[in-house]
Amino acid sequence: MKIKVIGCSGAEFPGHNAPGFLLDDEILFDAGSITNILDEQAQMKIRSIFITHAHLDHIRSIPFLADNIIVGKKKQQITIFSISPVIKTIKKHLFNSSVWPDFTIIPNPANAILNLQGLKVDRGIAINGYLITPHKVNHTVPAVGYLVEDKNGKRFFYTGDTGPCPKTWEKMKHKQIHCLIIDVSFPNSMNELALKTGHLTPELLKKELMRMKSMPERIYITHPKPQYFKSIGCQIERLKINNIRLLHDGDTLTV
Ligand SMILES: [Zn+2]
Ligand SMILES: [Zn+2]
Repeated sequence: MKIKVIGCSGAEFPGHNAPGFLLDDEILFDAGSITNILDEQAQMKIRSIFITHAHLDHIRSIPFLADNIIVGKKKQQITIFSISPVIKTIKKHLFNSSVWPDFTIIPNPANAILNLQGLKVDRGIAINGYLITPHKVNHTVPAVGYLVEDKNGKRFFYTGDTGPCPKTWEKMKHKQIHCLIIDVSFPNSMNELALKTGHLTPELLKKELMRMKSMPERIYITHPKPQYFKSIGCQIERLKINNIRLLHDGDTLTV
């Protein structure tokens, strides 16, 4: 599995882009950044987008991608996957012919550019030889992380935005995670805000890792607030955990 980090920031500044993780050029996890980073050729390879939750920083590039497809006269069709509350929000508040044209019926309902597909929590879907399963996480709105398993038994888990979620780790306790991409948005001093907004700090992350039956082989931090990037990095280092680091936009991970 080759995962390209299109964006991994918890806010936007030049060089710090909203979350987007591209698996093998075709399957995207979260769509905070697509069209502002990828060229047209790369955009047109995307076939599936798995959304963790409907917050704007995770969905906002979809409308621009749909627009690029129609303007470029491409035949591409993309399926947007998520749990039904997220799908409903995207339909109602984004593709509603008011905020943006409804690309779920354009150019016509039978051949629409976007196909919205609901997923059930804990139930996997097979795509491109992978099994992709949404697991509930703890955020301020309905949210899931995605467990991706390949045929060789390699696994990565992307949490999306989450605060402490012991039940999620309990559910996955029998599965060795080879690559964990997990939210740490705030430094330790902002513990209260992190918990209130459904995010982690380095100290909260440590507690989550202790809850896991076996430590993930590699741990990558996503969604840090750029204003606190350095302090979060220092605090992560001080955890003295092996194979853990902050992600950067443009990184490529191999699982
Ligand atoms: Zn969020
Ligand atoms: Zn977010």
